[in-house]
Amino acid sequence: MLETMQSAMISPTTAVDFQELADLALGGETLTREQARAVLGADAAQLDELLGATLRVRERFYGRRVKMCVLLNAQSGICPEDCHYCSQSKISRAPVDKYRLLSEDVMVERARQAAAAGARRFCMVIAARGPQQKDIDRLSAAAVRIKSDPVTCELEICTSLGIMSLEQCRQLKAAGVDYVNHNLNTSEAHYAKICTTHTYADRVATLNNVREAGLATCSGGIVGMGESDDDLIEMAFALRAMDIDSIPVNFLLAIDGTPLAGSPAVEPDRALKVLCLMRLLNPTKEVRASAGRERLGDKQVLALYAANSLFVDGYLTTPGDPHAQVRSWIEGAGFEVET
Ligand code: SF4
Repeated sequence: MLETMQSAMISPTTAVDFQELADLALGGETLTREQARAVLGADAAQLDELLGATLRVRERFYGRRVKMCVLLNAQSGICPEDCHYCSQSKISRAPVDKYRLLSEDVMVERARQAAAAGARRFCMVIAARGPQQKDIDRLSAAAVRIKSDPVTCELEICTSLGIMSLEQCRQLKAAGVDYVNHNLNTSEAHYAKICTTHTYADRVATLNNVREAGLATCSGGIVGMGESDDDLIEMAFALRAMDIDSIPVNFLLAIDGTPLAGSPAVEPDRALKVLCLMRLLNPTKEVRASAGRERLGDKQVLALYAANSLFVDGYLTTPGDPHAQVRSWIEGAGFEVET
């Protein structure tokens, strides 16, 4: 009740000192939920101040560096799950490629291409509820080769394979995988509205296995799936509470043939505010402007006031901007691509 009353007292035009919020973040303190609401409620006139304060936090921990990441859809279009946003789910009618896990040679070659493109992280993703043992074996073998090849040995390797046991995570760790991605996607309360074949708790359990195996955790969300501000705030606090190392923030690409087709696009200013919230709540962590950030158009550079990382050369089933073009605007805006 108290929360509700406080919420009602804050209007979008309530004066909020975002520099004070930045000071809290820099001091290692968390925001209150009310302050988080004020971030998402910032009006157009407050946005510059919010971005400036967030940049101060970003620069403390990441300077002007930008990490470019490349995705590989290593197994496509054959997932038995029903995530409503996903073009590769069993209920999607989107015309996507369908193939089983790529060969070790292809994965290694794609890693070499990622390194040549200037990527620091190479993320191998499969469309599946979870990996089979033979998938883990092949991905592990690919990881060993990537880490021992002079061209690719400096790449950070991430895998996104769905629900995984502790044993599976340990095998990936032993092979040289650095990160495992498994997104919370939204709040626990909203989760059943976007997926019915597994639960938010399933995802948390996998992330716990990832951490216990000694791997770095990558987990974030998708904005624009009908969630409320409070859903986004709960997700952001959950990521903080779980001490997630790398936080991709996606903006829904409402793909024809999926249940979320026709959802309104996330407004650029809202996208920026969500990124700021993630940075202020997770000041030392990697925040990554991910799928859909191209829709920010000229405002993409402002995403870097909060995010220190982004993807180049496209997403799992949708195109993105080529790495040379992205590098050009990053450098033109006074940021530097991490090498
Ligand atoms: S588990 Fe992954 S690949 Fe499968 S439907 Fe969900 S998001 Fe898509």
